[in-house]
Amino acid sequence: MQRRPGFKSPDRNSPTLPRRLFGRWWRRQSPAQQDRFATLGPLVSVMLFLAAIISAFWYLRNEEFEREQESVKRDTEIAQQQIRLRLIENQEQLVRIAREIVTRAIDQDEFVGQATSFTRERPEINHLFWITTTRARKAAYSALSFHTETGLTGDEYGASLPHEGKPSEPEAAFVAARTLRQPVYTRPFNDSYGIPVIQVQVPLIDRAAFSGTLIAEYSVEALMRYFVPAEVSNRHAISLLDAQEHVLASTVTPMPGQKSRPASIVHDVPVAPAGDGLVLRGQGYRTSIGLISNTLFWMVVALSVLTVWMLLGTWRHMRRRLQMQSALVSEANFRRAMENSMLTGMRAVDLEGRISYVNPAFCAMTGFGEAELIGRQPPFPHWPPDRYEENNRMFQQELQGRSPAGGIEVKVMRKDGTLFDARMYVSPLIDPKGQQTGWMTSMTNITEAKRIRDQLSASHERFTTVLEGLDAAVSVLSVQQGELLFANRSYRLWFGADALGHALLAGDEPDFPRLSDSEDGVDHLGGLPTQELTEVGSDPREVFIEPLQKWFDVRSRYLQWTDGRLAQMLIATDITARLSAETLAASQAEKAQVTSRLVTMGEMASSVAHELNQPLTAITNYCNGMVTRVKGDAIEKNDLIAALEKTSRQAQRAGQIIHRIRAFVKRSEPQRQAAQARTIVEDAVELASIELRRRNVAIHTYVAQRLPHLLVDPILIEQVLLNLLKNAAEAIDSAQLPPARRNIELRVVPRHTPEEGGVIEFTVTDMGPGIKDEVIARLYEAFFSTKPEGLGIGLSLCRSIIESHRGRIRAQNLYNGTSVVGCRFVFTLPVDIPRSDALPTTNSAVTS
Ligand code: ADP
Repeated sequence: MQRRPGFKSPDRNSPTLPRRLFGRWWRRQSPAQQDRFATLGPLVSVMLFLAAIISAFWYLRNEEFEREQESVKRDTEIAQQQIRLRLIENQEQLVRIAREIVTRAIDQDEFVGQATSFTRERPEINHLFWITTTRARKAAYSALSFHTETGLTGDEYGASLPHEGKPSEPEAAFVAARTLRQPVYTRPFNDSYGIPVIQVQVPLIDRAAFSGTLIAEYSVEALMRYFVPAEVSNRHAISLLDAQEHVLASTVTPMPGQKSRPASIVHDVPVAPAGDGLVLRGQGYRTSIGLISNTLFWMVVALSVLTVWMLLGTWRHMRRRLQMQSALVSEANFRRAMENSMLTGMRAVDLEGRISYVNPAFCAMTGFGEAELIGRQPPFPHWPPDRYEENNRMFQQELQGRSPAGGIEVKVMRKDGTLFDARMYVSPLIDPKGQQTGWMTSMTNITEAKRIRDQLSASHERFTTVLEGLDAAVSVLSVQQGELLFANRSYRLWFGADALGHALLAGDEPDFPRLSDSEDGVDHLGGLPTQELTEVGSDPREVFIEPLQKWFDVRSRYLQWTDGRLAQMLIATDITARLSAETLAASQAEKAQVTSRLVTMGEMASSVAHELNQPLTAITNYCNGMVTRVKGDAIEKNDLIAALEKTSRQAQRAGQIIHRIRAFVKRSEPQRQAAQARTIVEDAVELASIELRRRNVAIHTYVAQRLPHLLVDPILIEQVLLNLLKNAAEAIDSAQLPPARRNIELRVVPRHTPEEGGVIEFTVTDMGPGIKDEVIARLYEAFFSTKPEGLGIGLSLCRSIIESHRGRIRAQNLYNGTSVVGCRFVFTLPVDIPRSDALPTTNSAVTS
């Protein structure tokens, strides 16, 4: 079909404009508002429906009411018409009879005859009277059976006849008829029997002269009965009322004692020509009086209420559903976020082994996209080709639900072909009905973890290898439980695998386990930070272990064990060999000292002999002199005593020398004792002076006053001093210096230095040739000597003696300009001296 340009055929799918507008408006609303509208919409519809129903009812009711009103009006008017026509017709007949009476066409009897036939056809008429001008009754006829005869004289008509001067309805009508000369109707009144009646009085005009009236009396009730059509009275209540609205007759009769219901529709019409006295009233009693009594209406209301109630219920239900839905949505979002953010790969397979789901982490780990994995069946693309067999076996296990709970380690291939280690855990997938729909596999990349684990185990291995390979026993004991936490091979070798060895090694270390077991159960470490405690190390101790016959150097330390417990670590090194070597060395050193002293004495033997020779010669001389003088009797007693005393002194002197030498060379255990520096110096100088004298070297000694006591072995210090003095004398002597330079100075002073604290400083200064540079470097070397017969152990011994007393020794040359003018040996021994007593350090050269 050719489409005309510019004409756009309406697209069947495109919504109409209002729908589009509504859709746009609807989408603009927030979900909460949409919900509100969706709920309020039906509610409003029901309300509108109810309102429409009510207004429809209202309208119908009004309609019906109007129709009813119309019907009442019409029926009333029909009835009125009937009555009116009858009254007019009767009136005409009465006028005819009246004319006949006047023309004397009839007499009284004929009147009765006419009246009889007249009333026979007119049951509404009760009585007919013919009365004269004087209101006298000329003839009367009663249609009622009980007084039919004429000429009745009874007073039963009294109320129906006019009486002059006595106002009544008949009288008023009579007067009016006489005056007006026209038929006149009375207002309703009650006759002698109390029956409501109306009369029409037709004047009898005899040649323009009034000669009485013809009275016809209607029963109001009969008027009603005969002239209101049956269909009218069936439909409505019709009644006749007097001017005062008293009901004279009605088609409906209320039950005795009950008041008639007030009618909703009332229509009144006067009954002409009966005058204003008689009113015809039609009353309509509607079947549907109001909405309130309408069952249909109430059913509609009830249904509407039910609908509203159900809508509200639906709304509440919807709200609960919405809340559940939003909770579900947030739960789903939370799970999705969790699933997307976690590093664990997730893969679901259905019961046939087809991949039904993979999470982003799984894709990221394997490098395969979701589309490449979902729907795949084994072999999966992430299985390494060379491991299909193994993977297939594990997958079958998985499908049968026999995967180990601890997970399985597998190799996984990435899309680029690289491999990584992964651990997989499998759990069943259960749907909401409790049916298993597949398996969920979680996968973690353990390459890094595995590498770290391998590294850790390697480092642990190294650590244990080192510890196991140690010659020292290493043990760690938990302080609280006294449980051996760690022991290396050496420990196990020596002490076995129990904590006893640790206890033996710990010895008198603070015993924490025992503290924790104390009776009151109070934690004695309470409040003490473990950090503090672990920093408490103790100095190395030497412990002898009886059963092993071994000495151990034990170092202990408190540390926090891997599980946070406080533990004590002991490192015990076997030092038995070292100790015995040390003991041997010590005894050898001691022997060396003694030997050295003997050697010194040996070297000094000629000097000593010379020294001893003097007293002995003197003794010999004294003795010879005394013998000669005693023989010649030339000696006085007093002279003899004096000579003997001199001899004895010389002998004592010789004895002293020998005693000192014996004391010096006597082998004894080194023993420290409180000693005076002065005594040591005097003894040493005494011994040295023998050698000095022989070599012709002078010595100047200065010892400071009030020196503190030294805690030393005096013989060893003496040996040091003697050695230094001897070396000085030998140096001077061998250099053959002139007498001016043959001097040695010995100074002993207290000193305080920052490095050493309080010391006593011994300085031996000679004016010899000094020490050559190459000699200075090897000065303390054992068996190094520049002398032909020198042993070279003197200074080496000196140093070990001084250092064993925690002192120091040093040597230096003295210069005068660039030339060496001597050398100085200084050694110090520590003492407890207050700083103020010490002299400041001086470096001034001592010259003599
Ligand atoms: P010995 O005296 O047996 O040689 P020492 O150990 O006592 O052994 O001395 C080592 C060397 O130090 C000596 O041989 C000597 O050369 C040198 N020496 C020691 N004291 C002095 C000194 N006061 N002046 C010069 N040289 C000295």
